[in-house]
Amino acid sequence: MKIGFIGLGNMGAPMARILAAAGHSVTGFDVAGVTIEGVSPAESAAAAARLAEVVITMLPDGAILRDVAAQIHPAMAQGAVHLDCSTVDVDSAKIVARAAEQAGVAALDAPVSGGVGGAAAGTLTFMVGGPDSAFATCAPLFEAMGQTAVRCGGPGMGQAAKICNNMILGVTMIATCEAFALADKLGLDRQAMFDVVSTASGASWSMNAYCPAPGIGPNSPADNGYAPGFAAELMLKDLRLAQMAAAAADADTPLGQAARDLYEQFVEQEDGKGRDFSAMLPRFTARHRGT
Ligand code: NAD
Repeated sequence: MKIGFIGLGNMGAPMARILAAAGHSVTGFDVAGVTIEGVSPAESAAAAARLAEVVITMLPDGAILRDVAAQIHPAMAQGAVHLDCSTVDVDSAKIVARAAEQAGVAALDAPVSGGVGGAAAGTLTFMVGGPDSAFATCAPLFEAMGQTAVRCGGPGMGQAAKICNNMILGVTMIATCEAFALADKLGLDRQAMFDVVSTASGASWSMNAYCPAPGIGPNSPADNGYAPGFAAELMLKDLRLAQMAAAAADADTPLGQAARDLYEQFVEQEDGKGRDFSAMLPRFTARHRGT
């Protein structure tokens, strides 16, 4: 397929590389002037979009996405698909979908889970909102870049699925870390704690697949000095998006709010920035009750 790819950062660059390696014809653009072997450089976002059957965007936030969408939609062929893989607020995804429709273009919001490692390996999970026909058009691209693509509903529902998933992840990571810190203070061996919880009702992805205690369970960022992985500031971004959505939808999410507050403190007032989000564990072990 002819693909335009806009936003060639930590995630976009390996995704574009994989699409080119799979035999697609990829034209890329990034304001930072990034070039990638196998990807033809374009002079602007509109130029990258002009001849494409699918235009993929992988951008930092909703405001930038809306701005780029306004540049590319008028340049795109009628019936082409705008596949946005960025993580943005639900409202921006819906606004972009409406703008696309007015321009005769189909839009999908398809945020990903799996991080930079998943992008490089082509094992991302896509959570997709938008029309069925556009989902079918993009199926070969999801297959090249990922291992799973779930259609979640209409416009914005991919973003909704992403923030709900990551709200659960943030909350369970905090719960797992504070339980380890409590276990330490009670004199419970960490390996015994893992062996019990990972096979009992406290099990979760945070414990079983991404254990925050070094030397315990499968290999994880804890075994690499808490280098990300999934950086605490990216978790904070997603928890903020979840709270924005909860406020707009009048949903009661007290633990999501507490997780947002804790990651905000960790990233903005403590030493969390640039560390993996599982570095909540050493944070808790260094603290005392009520501090
Ligand atoms: P990044 O900052 O590395 O990349 C974003 C790129 O967009 C940059 O290269 C930047 O120059 C480019 N850009 C900014 N404005 C632009 C414009 N107007 N036109 C063209 N290019 C522009 O970010 P990333 O880590 O690649 O993340 C991209 C998106 O994916 C974000 O929404 C993020 O939340 C999401 N995401 C990231 C991860 C991760 O682990 N990094 C995991 C899942 C989802």
